[in-house]
Amino acid sequence: MATANKDYYGTLGVKKSATTEEIRKAFRKLARKFHPDVNPNDKRAEERFKEISEANDVLSDEKKRKVYDQLGFYSDNIDPAAAEAAARGGYGGGGFRGAPYAAGADAATGEVPFDFGGFDFSGFQGGSGARARGAESGGSFRDIFSGIFSREQKTRGPQPGTDLEYQVSVDFWSAVRGGVARLEITRQEACPACKGKSSSSGSIECPECHGTGQVTQMGGRMKFNIQCPRCGGTGKVQNACATCDGDGVVTKREPLEFRIKPGTRDGQRIRLAGKGNAGLEGGAPGDLYLIIKVGTHPVFTRVGDDIHVAVPVTVAEAALGAKIDVPTIDTHDGGGRTQLKIPPGTQTGQKLRLREKGVPSAAREGVRGDEIVEVKIVVPKVQDERSKEILRELAKLNPEDPRAELFKEV
Ligand SMILES: [Zn+2]
Ligand SMILES: [Zn+2]
Repeated sequence: MATANKDYYGTLGVKKSATTEEIRKAFRKLARKFHPDVNPNDKRAEERFKEISEANDVLSDEKKRKVYDQLGFYSDNIDPAAAEAAARGGYGGGGFRGAPYAAGADAATGEVPFDFGGFDFSGFQGGSGARARGAESGGSFRDIFSGIFSREQKTRGPQPGTDLEYQVSVDFWSAVRGGVARLEITRQEACPACKGKSSSSGSIECPECHGTGQVTQMGGRMKFNIQCPRCGGTGKVQNACATCDGDGVVTKREPLEFRIKPGTRDGQRIRLAGKGNAGLEGGAPGDLYLIIKVGTHPVFTRVGDDIHVAVPVTVAEAALGAKIDVPTIDTHDGGGRTQLKIPPGTQTGQKLRLREKGVPSAAREGVRGDEIVEVKIVVPKVQDERSKEILRELAKLNPEDPRAELFKEV
């Protein structure tokens, strides 16, 4: 079975005439974008990274690029001379180091004295040369990037799990007094079937080469048998775990319960160590971060550990002074109140402080915020003549102009 030729220039988005420097530049730009570290758990980015890495590996190497330009593909077990010959449409000497020897030729000398143009070599498995060459060619693309290969790669080593972040809505009272929050999270867990190893025991026939260890690729008018890139010529690949499809992790939705400390603030981050996504092959799990969103209350407004509340006060209370009841957070089911002294002559908008009637600090044990009472003077809507008469008399007794200061500044 023949594999399709890859368009390395298109993969890197460069012209066929691109210089080595232009190729490297294009690769670096794409590599930054698709690197697995920046795209955790993104299979498509990983595939893309493999593609651009492969394209760069060939195109940035002058010798490999020449073979690729001549044949339309590159393999470590194609001799450059053979590629040259194939590009010219015939056999030009130098010897095939790949598979297609021995087509009735003198195998001992390696000399093949006739034109191979258009000849189909795919049926010939004179593979010893190919394998030997494949085996000795260290530093190939597959070796360099083996760390990011999944599935077909036997070992990729432990990889830490990624962190998770969830926003959690907490009602006003649970944030003030503490409580328990419940939510459902979706996280990746080590696959229970393969214990995160991605493969089940044993190997299967390579689906790419059907166990032959070789695939055919066209080079000009000739076919080349090259070492199968999927299985590295072994003809076998690790059997992917059926439960996780070779990912090593399974996605699980699970309920989570966690304690809300009294005094928890809006926007606070809570870290639950090891509750993030599972690592691969024994890698440490990530952490789970919960971002707290605290709900509002119709009467109380929270500012840090302080509680703000607006309290209506009559004209008489404000003018003469009074002791009034104001609501506090100390019990929300009816009894939450305390006495507050309104000094004589209190103005609307004035703020009075009730020490340590605020929210307990989540950070400092035993410390509480204050309650800030804002006075709102309510003007009586008088209807009867008697009340109106009293107010007119009051005005006569107190002829001060409340706007005098205002006009001084204009
Ligand atoms: Zn294979
Ligand atoms: Zn599995």
